[in-house]
Amino acid sequence: MQDTFRHKGLRRKLVEELKELGIKDEQVLQTIGSIPRHWFIESSFEQKAYENTPFPIGSGQTISNPYTVAYQSELLQLKPTDIVLEIGTGSGYQATVLALLATKVYSIERHKPLVNHTEKLLQHLNLKNLQCFYGDGFEGLPQFAPFDKIIITAAAPEIPLKLIEQLKPGGLIVLPYGEGEVQQMMRIKKKEDLSIEKELFEYFTFVPMLKGTK
Ligand code: SAH
Repeated sequence: MQDTFRHKGLRRKLVEELKELGIKDEQVLQTIGSIPRHWFIESSFEQKAYENTPFPIGSGQTISNPYTVAYQSELLQLKPTDIVLEIGTGSGYQATVLALLATKVYSIERHKPLVNHTEKLLQHLNLKNLQCFYGDGFEGLPQFAPFDKIIITAAAPEIPLKLIEQLKPGGLIVLPYGEGEVQQMMRIKKKEDLSIEKELFEYFTFVPMLKGTK
């Protein structure tokens, strides 16, 4: 897998574009600037890897566009000590961004062919702090809970209560909330007294979060 000067140049431009779109978190921008996004998409789309667009990644799913990845990552307020759970591994790109910003990342995907494909790529990248699981994200990963941060990268029709349970007090979960054509980005904080506080942000379009596995 190659990462040429041309790829690096395109990535620098993408980072500038993300800044113009309002992304401020320097760590997030730097991380996106460091990851060869073209490794995560089919070679027929490689030309467009550094444009701010989503792509099909097989099994009818998409890799989120870079602005969406940056936006969700920024809302998570990641710390180097964070243990993170991602729902919707997909291409593994968002998981890789998280793995470079946190201490440990667990990611769940419900499509077996995608899990197999992405695990191969991630093995190649050799990120020792990233682990993928085949399963239903609505269930979370109780055996590895609690998490400091949880990110859902598919449109959640409801707030998954099991995931709130698996969040540490003081933890955050970021999810695109809603069932229609567009979803509103939501951040939920689980407070020390275990009550929850919701904040709403911009609108996005995600593939749906579906129950069960495939
Ligand atoms: N984070 C991904 C985005 C993938 S799109 C990336 O960076 O490429 C969303 C993914 O969520 C899809 O692959 C879809 O199969 C998965 N998904 C949807 N519902 C799910 C569920 N209940 N559990 C786990 N994964 C789910």
